[in-house]
Amino acid sequence: MSLTWRERWAARLDARLLRASRPLGDADLARRTLVLAPHPDDETLGCGGTIARLRALGTQVTVVVAADGSRSHRHLMPVDELRARRDAELLAACGELGVGASDVVRLGIEDGTLREHVAAIADAVATLVRERGIERLCMPVAAERIADHVAVHAAGRAVVQRLAALQVFEYPVWFWHVWPFVHPEAYGVRARLRAARESLAAWRGLHRLDRRVELGPARALKLNALARHETQTRRVVDDPRWATLSDVAEGSWLARLLGPNEFFAVTEPRFDAQTAQARDEAPAPRPDDPDMVRRRAT
Ligand SMILES: [Zn+2]
Repeated sequence: MSLTWRERWAARLDARLLRASRPLGDADLARRTLVLAPHPDDETLGCGGTIARLRALGTQVTVVVAADGSRSHRHLMPVDELRARRDAELLAACGELGVGASDVVRLGIEDGTLREHVAAIADAVATLVRERGIERLCMPVAAERIADHVAVHAAGRAVVQRLAALQVFEYPVWFWHVWPFVHPEAYGVRARLRAARESLAAWRGLHRLDRRVELGPARALKLNALARHETQTRRVVDDPRWATLSDVAEGSWLARLLGPNEFFAVTEPRFDAQTAQARDEAPAPRPDDPDMVRRRAT
């Protein structure tokens, strides 16, 4: 079967991603990590395989989910029931990835309102980072096209500005929801033009995804974890209006998130935590210390 133009272009983007990204080994990965996710399921879609690999290395992972997930199907299920189900699904999914309930923090903010709570999310995350000695923050990339995701990116940025010793892994989720990974050919001229614009922006953003985690056996754990998000992956209420992730994804959006690699835009810490600590703990130089004069002069 011959490939369509769209499929060929998607394959070219994939080849470019693989060429431009460097695989991370165990030594690179083993740092205490906090995964900041907008909704229950983003932790799995965006970096579930990486979480599983980190846990296999014995590295501590804390998962923080900002929204309560109560809006995904509120037209078909009472909000309280949906919220409770999504809570339970999140814990079960994190369990599959090797993260226990005590390392899953739910901020419980109403779905769809995260942009009104950026400062509160940043405060909660900064406190956890300090308390738990976190070295790496995983958060959505800037170009996420969904307001809640963009808000969580902004909260993550605010944390990094305060705590310069953090390494940052930005992960794409809705970033991939562009042509050629979705195909709006059926939607008319305006949708196609928008798709072309978004696609161009994504193409420009691709070069930032410069590291990848090869999932290996952790991929199966990621798939198990995603299956635990039942309200998102299967029709739990017998109604054709109950949308699942597969329905949202016209094309190969979901497939991209479940492939053999997870891609990240990595920013190294602005300064090294140990250097900072050593500097803080060093005895203060005396004013007559000749070293001090030299330091002032430089
Ligand atoms: Zn989300």
